[in-house]
Amino acid sequence: MSDGDVQNDAANSRLRRIPSISTILSDPEVRRRTDGLRTDVATQIAQAVVQRVRSAILAGDGAEQADEIVAHVVAELDALQQPKLREVINGTGVIIHTNLGRSPVSEEAARAMQDAATHYVPLEIELAAGKRGGRMAEVTRLMSLLTGAEATLVVNNNAAAVLLTLSALAAGREVILSRSQAVEIGGGFRVPDVMRQSGARLVEVGTTNRTYARDYEAALTDETAALLTVHWSNFRIIGFTAQPTLAELAELAHRRGLALIEDLGSGALADTAPWGLVHEPTVGESLAEGVDVVCFSGDKLMGGPQAGIISGRADVIRTITAHPLARAVRADKTALAGVAATLRHYLRDDYTETIPIWRMISAQLDELEARCRSWIDQIGFDGATLTTSQSAVGGGSLPGETLESRAIALGEEALQRRGLTIELVAHRLRSGTPPLVPHVENGRLLIDARTVLPGQEAGVVTALSAALNPGS
Ligand SMILES: *Cc1c(COP(=O)(O)O)cnc(C)c1O
Repeated sequence: MSDGDVQNDAANSRLRRIPSISTILSDPEVRRRTDGLRTDVATQIAQAVVQRVRSAILAGDGAEQADEIVAHVVAELDALQQPKLREVINGTGVIIHTNLGRSPVSEEAARAMQDAATHYVPLEIELAAGKRGGRMAEVTRLMSLLTGAEATLVVNNNAAAVLLTLSALAAGREVILSRSQAVEIGGGFRVPDVMRQSGARLVEVGTTNRTYARDYEAALTDETAALLTVHWSNFRIIGFTAQPTLAELAELAHRRGLALIEDLGSGALADTAPWGLVHEPTVGESLAEGVDVVCFSGDKLMGGPQAGIISGRADVIRTITAHPLARAVRADKTALAGVAATLRHYLRDDYTETIPIWRMISAQLDELEARCRSWIDQIGFDGATLTTSQSAVGGGSLPGETLESRAIALGEEALQRRGLTIELVAHRLRSGTPPLVPHVENGRLLIDARTVLPGQEAGVVTALSAALNPGS
């Protein structure tokens, strides 16, 4: 017999061992998992697994054994019931971690969101009067007290806020922007593209490093609708640079009866400077300097749910609200409830205790150190040490700025003594229960205490113990 015949024989015998769909579905382990599932779902999964194994065998790949089909179906049925967006422990030290869902909200915001989601709520009704009321009344009131904004509109995210604002105020006309601010924020948000999408015409002025108020003034025409300024969220320009102040731009815009729009990006409502960071401009400061409309994210430094917040002059916000796109991108009742609950933390000045990202930003080193020591004691691995680390705010705010932090470090050598590698332990941590995302740098695996939530202490110990002592 030729080699080819031998392979065909092997393939045929493997194909013959593939069980029928009904055999798979009547396996006790499979049945235990299909109880309560729509019947065709289990059939679809079994068929897909069989198809996959059959193709693998025909392609000469013996890795997928026909005998393991039931195990694959069981694994897929288990995975189906497991929500993807379940709790993860963030050990990276990056506070507003975009890939991990940016800002976790406060307990109070989460309760408000759940309450709004599971009940009827007076979204557009004034209960006492029994008449129609404004969807934005609550957030408008809160933002006005916190920032002086006359009116506020909440939409899906900041990208939508900027697109809507430009569409409503400047479609078909010109918007003047400094060349240094024709930026890409990431995730497909590029200011020139958003501008084009809104129907406004971008007029770039100045140079990459230096732009003056007179550059904006020289570009004004009868077609000018607004001046736009965009916060450099995730990069810096240093050295020989110049930018006009917001007050100068506001003066120029208002002298010509135009609006000054600011895309503030992160949109801090509190000062970052007391925590050893540079000062991130706040929404209130922008409005005080004369900006007519400020757009910012709800889930960056504000620390709330995903939202885009448009705050500013009442007449301008009215124009924006009346634009047809406003309906397409409006925030739902749960986001509005979460935003309002988050704003109340600033009203009460308890945000450093209640809003997770502010608790992390303001955490003291001795507290972080004590948490690391307690984890080290509990995991009982001699290669785990306390170390100094650098935590970043992230989420496109405060680029290059770090907060000194404390972490558990697992060194390469100590892991090798147990027959482990950094990559293997990192993989086990990420795929464990609960999953823990570590920070890997310079031959060390770090778990930064700053970004571990208070309720996750035990989870860190469980995750590390399991990754370091598999099978125990
Ligand atoms: C983050 C950011 C955006 C996009 O905000 P999303 O809430 O992610 O839509 C837009 N502009 C700036 C300056 C940003 O920093």
